[in-house]
Amino acid sequence: MYDDTIAAVATAMGEGGIGIVRISGENALSILEKVFCSVKNRPTENRKLTYGFVTDNFTGEKIDEVMAVYMKAPHSYTAEDVVEIQCHGSIVSLRKILALVLKNGARLAEPGEFTKRAFLNGRIDLTRAEAVMDVIHSQNEMALMSSVSQLRGNLFEVIKELRSKIIYEIAFIESALDDPEHISLEGYYESLSNKLDSFIIEVKKLVDSADCGKLMKEGINTVIIGKPNAGKSSLLNLLIGEERAIVTDIAGTTRDILKESIKLHGIHFNLVDTAGIRETEDIVEKIGVDKAKKFAKEADLVLYVVDMSVPLDESDKKIIDSIVDKNVIILMNKSDLKPVIEEKDVKKVIDKYNNKGKVRFIKTSAKENEGIDEFENTVKEMFFKGEIKSNNELMITNLRHKEALIQTLNSLELVKQSIDNELPEDFLSIDLMNAYAALGRIIGEEVDDDLVEEIFSKFCMGK
Ligand code: GDP
Repeated sequence: MYDDTIAAVATAMGEGGIGIVRISGENALSILEKVFCSVKNRPTENRKLTYGFVTDNFTGEKIDEVMAVYMKAPHSYTAEDVVEIQCHGSIVSLRKILALVLKNGARLAEPGEFTKRAFLNGRIDLTRAEAVMDVIHSQNEMALMSSVSQLRGNLFEVIKELRSKIIYEIAFIESALDDPEHISLEGYYESLSNKLDSFIIEVKKLVDSADCGKLMKEGINTVIIGKPNAGKSSLLNLLIGEERAIVTDIAGTTRDILKESIKLHGIHFNLVDTAGIRETEDIVEKIGVDKAKKFAKEADLVLYVVDMSVPLDESDKKIIDSIVDKNVIILMNKSDLKPVIEEKDVKKVIDKYNNKGKVRFIKTSAKENEGIDEFENTVKEMFFKGEIKSNNELMITNLRHKEALIQTLNSLELVKQSIDNELPEDFLSIDLMNAYAALGRIIGEEVDDDLVEEIFSKFCMGK
């Protein structure tokens, strides 16, 4: 615990309905009591919002009408005594209250110092502390989601589990070296080698998520499929807002695969326009069709465009067959024309194929620019409800984490090499320890005592 008390304006320094001055430290409550007087003259209670006035205890000037709350240590953001004064959100009022609090003995907090204290006081681990910063600074909804997931401790849990697996191996090696009579290392290299492979895969996945953080950089892989002439290119053009896909009346013109990246509500989508899926003799088009099926298989989201003005046929059945188990939005297109088929006709076919993914229908008309808003809102909803997910659920967004993970990976690979070169066991534990320490840096944990504890708890040395 620190012996000084810090204070800062916790809300944006601008005009707003409410502004908050936050105080943390031993003297938080005594400072509040000097500058705040509740209307009913009641003493300040823990975790209870109290209405009153801030008055300058040196000049007697009434500064603002406020709500104040006291959160007793350790149940507060910093795990110290915390006071928050909610005043009117004008810069003048915020400045005056802050100045008064400082005059009464608090020190102006450095940027991020409240969160730093939360970490140093052991209330949150480093991944969560950093996530707090990322949440504050997040540029879009997606980055925010990733930071919030980190804030929930998801990254922390994964790292912790991996570390515990690694330290188990170190402890095993150390114990075996110490007590060869009882603990045998026979066959150990092989079993460790297998475990290392799985550790490496896991760490690699995290490193990759930083490189191509699928959602943020690569976007959600979305594929548009449908029979030739259904209106795929026209809808794609509307979404990307420019004439990139060629629109024609001749069935099968979108021969190759067209890729576009669009952003809806802060979410990136990689749209792949495919050649119309249908049985074909044409070699060039057949390549496109096969590709389309493959894309559909790998996509996070499928947009299936159906031309409402023509009946369903064998091609539609084939398409539906290839998108079972996918999240599908079915765009019932050409709604401006006289409909020949309806939602229920498509549903019937879908039910036959027992689709386990989620299917939604939206009526669109590329010609009249209809249904596009509904489509955008649906996608947003599906994404934020978690129906559309990237394959990488956990993403590394922080450069420091990425570097530590790369070091972990290098160390694990060195262990593999030592095994291949049949080096003695102590070589293995050195690199394992390095991997363990690198992971520890991500969550801000020290290595020192962990090994001793592991050895005693798991292998009962010395009995
Ligand atoms: P794709 O083969 O699925 O990519 O289909 P296109 O986007 O090339 O469209 C085929 C034809 O249908 C073109 O002549 C479009 O102008 C027309 N079309 C596309 N969408 C609509 C629509 O919503 N209503 C009408 N009436 N025609 C459309």
